[in-house]
Amino acid sequence: MNYKYICTNCNKEYSSKEIEENFIYLCPECGKAEKNKPLRGVLNVEYDYAEIKKNISRDEFLKIQTGKFWLYPQLWPLNFKNIKGTLEIVKVTESQLDRLALLSQSIIEYKYNNNTLLLMDETRNPTFSYKDRASSLVGLKAVQMGINEIAAASTGNAGSSLAGISARLGLKSHIFVPKNIPDAKRIQIQSFGAKIYIVDGDYDNAFDLCLEVSQAKNWYNRNTAYNPLTIEGKKSAAYDIFLSTKGYIPDNIFIPVGDGVILSGIYKGFTELLKLGWIDKLPKFIAVQASGSDALVRYLKTNNFEYKAANTIADSISAGAPRNLYMAAKAVNKSNGFAIPVTDYEILSAQKEIANKFGILSEPSSASVFAAYKKSVEENKINVNDKNLLLITGNGLKDISALEQWNDKPEIKSYELWKSYLIG
Ligand SMILES: [Zn+2]
Repeated sequence: MNYKYICTNCNKEYSSKEIEENFIYLCPECGKAEKNKPLRGVLNVEYDYAEIKKNISRDEFLKIQTGKFWLYPQLWPLNFKNIKGTLEIVKVTESQLDRLALLSQSIIEYKYNNNTLLLMDETRNPTFSYKDRASSLVGLKAVQMGINEIAAASTGNAGSSLAGISARLGLKSHIFVPKNIPDAKRIQIQSFGAKIYIVDGDYDNAFDLCLEVSQAKNWYNRNTAYNPLTIEGKKSAAYDIFLSTKGYIPDNIFIPVGDGVILSGIYKGFTELLKLGWIDKLPKFIAVQASGSDALVRYLKTNNFEYKAANTIADSISAGAPRNLYMAAKAVNKSNGFAIPVTDYEILSAQKEIANKFGILSEPSSASVFAAYKKSVEENKINVNDKNLLLITGNGLKDISALEQWNDKPEIKSYELWKSYLIG
């Protein structure tokens, strides 16, 4: 294999064989998954960047189409073969890959108060959220390893994503969710044919239960951060940003943070681009949290994690114990970025404004980035002339009750009454 695993806490290295053949998820030396605490010993995949650089130049790489990460298999923990100059992923068919393709143009440009703003629209992914990036990689890995059943704990999006991607690849999925899951996400999971287990508790409870059950049942586990491939899969957005902007990457990227895995994944992707010598500096990562779920904001101030039950309308970023807290904090610090909290009220106003002005229906967690952008401009934390990119991670239809908070129930009138009301 062309890669190894490295612990993000103790830096110990492991061969891919040792980790994968024994179904190891966290670092065997220091790994710990404790209740209501960030994970310890999260593993990262590391490649031979010097070797990759030798075989493909920056210019050649920039010709690759966006939305299809398998077109550069040398940067993924998959088994591939070089057949007559084309890189083929072992045991996976081309049609299976095509079912996982994302939009070829997901970054769209808008003017806001005379400034250019880039929005990365992940609401049109196969199951309408960013999580498809992680589920696709985990799903392909399962196909390669000959595993049929995958389990995940989720606030809703990771679960509906795993359920949908599993259906596309012919795998079975088991999804553990908290009782406050929005109806639309629950029904999405069920409709894709997954087994759903609703826990009378919060996401942290669902996470722990899923770990215990999948160990006992020998299911492949897609719990976010716990399975290193979730961070790895989520790095693909960094490459899509690099490819879409032809290498002119944004100065600042606003990212919603719950468990901190999207932030960690994007940070990993840009760090790789730096190692490959294809960019000269990291973009600043701006970690956006809801005020009622702000563990990373507090951690960056005090350098101390303190568990506080999360409470916010933005269910996708509601996490009292962000599983990938330490890597997310590193991403913010290494990039000279910052973390910023926004209130539920600011999130809902932002959701309305994004829908009205940009025509993008986002869920509350994603709307948080627009609220944070406005706040950062007001507080002079960023330069408006910078190239700013907002990551819109999930579709608004996944949580109708949030939309109902700012949309009145429309009146019903008869044909005649509407006519007289409108024409007179
Ligand atoms: Zn370790």
